[in-house]
Amino acid sequence: MPLPVTYADVAAAAKHLEGAAHRTPVLISTTANEMTGAQVFFKAENLQRMGAFKFRGAYNAIAKLSPEQRKRGVLAFSSGNHAQAIALSARLAGIAAVIVMPSDAPPLKLAATRGYGAEVITYDRMKEDREALAKKISDERGMTMIPPFDHPDVIAGQGTAAKELIEDAGPLDYLFVCLGGGGLTSGCAIAAHELAPNCKVIGVEPEAGNDVQQSFRKGEIVKIPVPVTIADGAQTQAPGLLTFAIIRELVSDIVTVSDPQLIEAMRFFVSRMKIVVEPTGCLAAAAVFNRLADIKGKRVGVIISGGNVDPAALGRWLA
Ligand SMILES: *Cc1c(COP(=O)(O)O)cnc(C)c1O
Repeated sequence: MPLPVTYADVAAAAKHLEGAAHRTPVLISTTANEMTGAQVFFKAENLQRMGAFKFRGAYNAIAKLSPEQRKRGVLAFSSGNHAQAIALSARLAGIAAVIVMPSDAPPLKLAATRGYGAEVITYDRMKEDREALAKKISDERGMTMIPPFDHPDVIAGQGTAAKELIEDAGPLDYLFVCLGGGGLTSGCAIAAHELAPNCKVIGVEPEAGNDVQQSFRKGEIVKIPVPVTIADGAQTQAPGLLTFAIIRELVSDIVTVSDPQLIEAMRFFVSRMKIVVEPTGCLAAAAVFNRLADIKGKRVGVIISGGNVDPAALGRWLA
């Protein structure tokens, strides 16, 4: 069966993103190389617009809307980086956006999303079903719903992160990717498969939220309860249909890291590399720092997926 997204889609997404997304830097650290025995290349998507790679997929999905769809605008439900990515991309495209968020979402995130010009509609997490609410709004207003990972244009957009990394760092033996619902991992796997065919792609999940690892091992989608982890961008309960189909085909393995390992990685990034990375953004790096694959002497890519963390929480974790 052909995969739902091809490298041509990733290359087309890269064209759409030209001049809109930052080409984020590839960072290297002698200390990280010494610690791991590998040559590590960090793709710093914490420095992407709105602070995470999610801008890539959101912007690409919006760029591909028809004129009719643009007139009616877009809708997303998310309290995390996808919300801000859709809000910013919609503003840049000059179209309306509605973001459906729980009323108890962190005030900072509500404010940031409104700050990008989106209309935020809140719901009561205990009483209302957010998908039903989102569907009602999109039916009433004719808005196009853009999901956070299980969408071909979102997956293709996310894949541009690995495309840039391999173009800038050269061929890789391994690529470690932070994994929630699998949009980033599947997109990056498609890019790596084309540009560095011998590169093994490893998805990294939080230990408590290993829905994709379980699905990968079982060969079918496994759904888990909402996981408890500080990696709030990877609290997914199951991979998507499209992302899982791609991951099964192109990903070599899925490994997990613990919350304390994420905190250690955050500390390393702040103290040694002078960058702020959110817990979810540390998943891939934590796997490499703990040598969860045979990376000795290898050229290893790591996607740092985002940097949106509450400074007070960061301070508590690092204290
Ligand atoms: C959304 C997100 C992820 C997970 O991405 P998926 O495409 O859902 O696998 C990882 N890191 C950060 C910072 C995110 O915002």
